[in-house]
Amino acid sequence: MSQLTRMPSEDDILLDVQGLSKSFEIRRHLSRRLVGTVRAVDDVSFQVRRGETVGLVGESGCGKTTTGRCILRAVEPTEGRIHFFDGLRRIDLLALSGGPLRAFRRHMQLVFQDPYASMNPRMTVMQIVGEPLRIHRVATGEQIEDRVRELITAVGLDPKFLNRYPHAFSGGQRQRISIARALALHPSLVVADEAVSALDMSMQAQILNLLKDLQGRMQLTYLFIAHDLSVVRHFSDRVLVMYAGRLVETGPTAQIFAAPKHPYTEALLSAAPRADPGAKSNRIILTGEVPDPANRPGGCPFHPRCRFAEPRCRNDVPPLREVAPDRWAACHYSEHLEMDGVG
Ligand code: SF4
Repeated sequence: MSQLTRMPSEDDILLDVQGLSKSFEIRRHLSRRLVGTVRAVDDVSFQVRRGETVGLVGESGCGKTTTGRCILRAVEPTEGRIHFFDGLRRIDLLALSGGPLRAFRRHMQLVFQDPYASMNPRMTVMQIVGEPLRIHRVATGEQIEDRVRELITAVGLDPKFLNRYPHAFSGGQRQRISIARALALHPSLVVADEAVSALDMSMQAQILNLLKDLQGRMQLTYLFIAHDLSVVRHFSDRVLVMYAGRLVETGPTAQIFAAPKHPYTEALLSAAPRADPGAKSNRIILTGEVPDPANRPGGCPFHPRCRFAEPRCRNDVPPLREVAPDRWAACHYSEHLEMDGVG
């Protein structure tokens, strides 16, 4: 168990991910000959507690979306274990297939970044939100209509628009419809993948407030995937920071923002917008790109961009280790570095 966040008690775990990896084969266009492998997710372990919000953050291409999709079984992991706790039942997600997997999907739902792309433009809101109820055969006829009205009201839309099509709504309204659809089957876990990234700041705040409100009312647990740390700051209880397919820092949100323990987290924080526009900016400009997962640098994958890199960092892979109570970081020198947080 090389990458591990604090182990919560068995009672409060909803999701337990251990040693999750996902590799994609690279094949030549015409001959289909195998020419390489991309390790998009590399030995990732974490737990999500019932009722909490966990933010999974990192730059585009770091593997966070693939992690979310492995958990939802939208892509098949290459290695690892994923367990879901439903009351007294401990369900091995990777052992499910066929009918049992389809039946289980109602417990975990996805909210997409682009709700318009995930909706059939020829279906009305009533049909879109009612579709999961029909597919899982949990309601029929008027029951579906009643439930859809209830859901649409819960997400702050007027049920009189149920017969309209997606194009008649704004981006924020479409995201509300997408959330209503995700909640139709009373899921326990919602994976929100860049759910507010396409929205302007005021709409982001409205959708985040809505998600928080629904969490309290419907006992939801969120895995909130975002590239922007400032979005998860007031929304997540804990944060997992991902870089080049691996977790590099995890911990309670407030502590990570106040005092990051990994240089990559520090750089991400420095780039987040400040509430006070007059405040002095200590932005750390990361040079270079996120490493190519097919050709990752040896040692610490962050060493080509790290301002603290030492010769050792080029050879030794730093494990994710507990560097303070409930704080985990994958850096050889975490305890000795002076890094700035945001107040
Ligand atoms: Fe930087 Fe070295 Fe720490 Fe990696 S292990 S984050 S290169 S100081």
